[in-house]
Amino acid sequence: MSSYIFENARILDGSVADGVHDQFVRVSGNIIEEVSDKPIKDSNARRIDLRGKTLMPGLIDCHIHLNCGGLHEPDENAALPNETVLYHSVRLMKEMLNRGFTTVRDLGGATFAQVQAVEQGLVQGPRLVICGKAMVQTGGHSDYRTRHDSDDGSRHLGQLGAVGRIVDGVDDCRKAARDEVRKGAQFIKVMANGGAASSHFPRPYLGFSTEELRVFQDEADKAKMYVSVHTHTDEAVARALELGIHSIEHATLITPETAETAARQGAIVTPTISAYEAQIRESARLGLDPAFVERLKWVRARGPESLEIMRAAGVKLAFGTDVLGSMYSYQSEEFMIRNEVIPALEVIKSATLNAAELVRMPGKVGTVAPGAFADLLVLEKDPLKDISVLANQGRYMSMIVKNGELIKDELAA
Ligand SMILES: [Zn+2]
Repeated sequence: MSSYIFENARILDGSVADGVHDQFVRVSGNIIEEVSDKPIKDSNARRIDLRGKTLMPGLIDCHIHLNCGGLHEPDENAALPNETVLYHSVRLMKEMLNRGFTTVRDLGGATFAQVQAVEQGLVQGPRLVICGKAMVQTGGHSDYRTRHDSDDGSRHLGQLGAVGRIVDGVDDCRKAARDEVRKGAQFIKVMANGGAASSHFPRPYLGFSTEELRVFQDEADKAKMYVSVHTHTDEAVARALELGIHSIEHATLITPETAETAARQGAIVTPTISAYEAQIRESARLGLDPAFVERLKWVRARGPESLEIMRAAGVKLAFGTDVLGSMYSYQSEEFMIRNEVIPALEVIKSATLNAAELVRMPGKVGTVAPGAFADLLVLEKDPLKDISVLANQGRYMSMIVKNGELIKDELAA
């Protein structure tokens, strides 16, 4: 079991302004064993002097799609052979680790086999928190059938690249939720609204009846889990909050009134603005429909405003990205986009402490504390002065450690 000691470290996790300086951190195996303001004795450990550098917990992205790294059109990605999707996921996991993401929450598509593959070391990747397939009503966001298809959509159940499963009616919703829990889901994802950024379903309709949403919530409660809802419109967010739903995705058009309810109920919202930014910047290369790009621009422009509304209301925000296909290189752009209106310290907190709370692993991830997993980043520059230190495909990260394993080590003697 390898152990090492970080010396003279400035620890930054978003909880303390400017971080905690002159700290000593001992890692043994995959665990942070000790954090002290005094030098730690251990003659067998490798010593790493971090004077002038910053030590952070590994980053957490709370909204990714591990199996959507093939093609940016979700319906086309869903039609890819499973092997192709899997190879893309292997590449993506490696890339995400090298950007400093050591834990990621998948919002539809990743499987328990992939969780196991990472845990068993078959593949190098961030620890995965999964929901299995997302719940999609007939005709809802992520129902990939065209108007010309007449099958029941069940063919997508076996497609690794498909985000959701189609389910309607309270009995089937209950069964589908139980089925995903059986298959290793750690929360239930529900498409409760149209996709504002979807070329097929741009309408602001509500997904699922209130009764169906209640069933998902009930099943999650019984399984000691939570429901996460895909929402864009204020109406959809408000409806989810009324049912006591805890995890809200996107929330693009949230109003101050609804944001206050979210804050009061302790819901955690995960905006994903980089997804729109990436598509706008890549629209020519991807050959996106100009009308669709105009819609994206409108949604993107609304992003900072929604962040400001939620911040003013005191909503707890988690870091999320939702980028697809070849746009994964935009994953860390979310830091800069959020920093347009939110101070760097709070943006960092969204990818550490708040995210850890959302994935229900507080004290284990998103923190540099005794007993936490050894998920660590060494930064050459101060992210509070320039948050792009957390971006640029990990260029300013001289060390990346996940679960005690050295992913990147430029400080070796
Ligand atoms: Zn998503």
